[in-house]
This record gives sequence, structure tokens and C-alpha cells, in this order.
Amino acid sequence: MADRKAELAANLARVEERIAGACGTAGRAREDVTLVVVTKTFPASDVRLLAELGVRDVAENRDQDAAPKAAACADLPLNWHFVGQLQTNKARSVTSYAHFVHSVDRPRLVTALSEAAVRAGRETGVLLQVGFDGESESAAPRGGVRPADVPDLAERVTEAQGLRLAGVMTVAPLSGPYAGRPGETFRRLWEISTDLRSRHPAANMVSAGMSADFEEAVAAGATHVRVGSAVLGVRPRLG
Ligand SMILES: *Cc1c(COP(=O)(O)O)cnc(C)c1O
Repeated sequence: MADRKAELAANLARVEERIAGACGTAGRAREDVTLVVVTKTFPASDVRLLAELGVRDVAENRDQDAAPKAAACADLPLNWHFVGQLQTNKARSVTSYAHFVHSVDRPRLVTALSEAAVRAGRETGVLLQVGFDGESESAAPRGGVRPADVPDLAERVTEAQGLRLAGVMTVAPLSGPYAGRPGETFRRLWEISTDLRSRHPAANMVSAGMSADFEEAVAAGATHVRVGSAVLGVRPRLG
């Protein structure tokens, strides 16, 4: 366990240096970027060590793993972010521990999360996941909402009880015109965020960038970078 803590500390220090470097290059303040550590596939004991090392934001992508992990770590001062594809029948479970859901991409999910949050007496932060993996920007993406549908989905979130519109999120796509161009993807996300903030100024979170590309996300204005393997190591299984 001491070895694992030292390993995580060293990895965190390297990631911190990369974030600080990217902020410096972009002329941004380090405090403007929050590191969200993606702990999927890693045990609750790692989450505990990360909390001891000062991490305050963690993310998971599957409810069946996240729910028991969050319960095992309920004593820790952590913000939990849900970043995976979400089925409406998991909304109740996810709202019981997640402070933010980054992967909201359709009206039915807004309805389900709203009902669940109201029932739990909680307020859940919602980020709209913008999909760039369609054949074109106007084609339906496989994951996320089309850029053109962001305003309507945003209105639905602001009208829903129990939810607070917090911002936008994306994952750099593997297919479509943006494939292999994370910088361009993140700059487009920033434009979409700018539009959104003109109507909803408080929806100022921009969640973008993973281990391989978070410098480009910081350069493009990301406020939250989601970093897994660069902190925890290679994942034991696909997740
Ligand atoms: C797994 C995952 C990450 C982290 O990916 P790494 O490449 O391990 O940093 C970020 N965002 C989402 C949505 C993920 O599923």
C-alpha cells in the first residue's frame, strides 16, 4: 500500500506538472483547471489513497462499479463525477452519489435524472455531452448530442427540477471529420460553451481532455480535465 501511494503520488506530480505547463503556455491560471481523476476499474483503496494525496474530484463511467465504490468512500471529502453512457434505469442510483453527470445527451435522460434527484432531495450538476463522432457535425453522433441540439437540451435541463445546468463535455472522437484532431474538437467545444454561457452564464464547466490530450484541452479553455491512466496506470480491463 505504501508503494502504491508513492506510485500514485509520483504520477499525480507528473500530471500536475503537465497541467501547470499547459496553463502557463495558454496564459491561464492554474486554479482555472480542475483535475478530475478517472478511477474506473481501480479499487476503492486507490480512491482513498488519492484523497489522502489531495485529490478532490473523481470520476467513474459505470454505475455498477461506481455505486459500491462511492459507498465505500462516503467518509472522504470527494466530488463524484459520472462520465459514462447512462441508461435511464440507472438514474436513481447515479444521483444518489454523483455530484455531476457529464454524459447527459437526450431528453429522456434529463427527465429520469430530474425525477431521481427530486426523489433523493438532491441537486445534480448536469453537463451536456457533445458528440463529434458523427459523419458530419449535423449527422447523429454515436455518443452525445449534436451541437445543433445543445440549446434545446439545455433549456430542458434548466426547466427540470433537481438539476443544475453546469456546462458541456466531450470525448475526442475516433471517427468522423474530427477524428485524430483533438485540438480542433476542443476548440469547437469551447465555441459551443460560449454560446451556451451567453444564455446560461452559470453553465461554465468545460470538461475535455484525457491522459493523452489534456494539454490541448487546457489550451482550448477546458475547466475540467478527466485523467485516468496517467495517474492510476494502465487499466486492468477495458472500461
Ligand atoms: C476513461 C475515461 C477517461 C480517462 O481516460 P484516460 O485515457 O485513462 O485518461 C476520461 N473520460 C472518459 C469519459 C472516460 O471514459
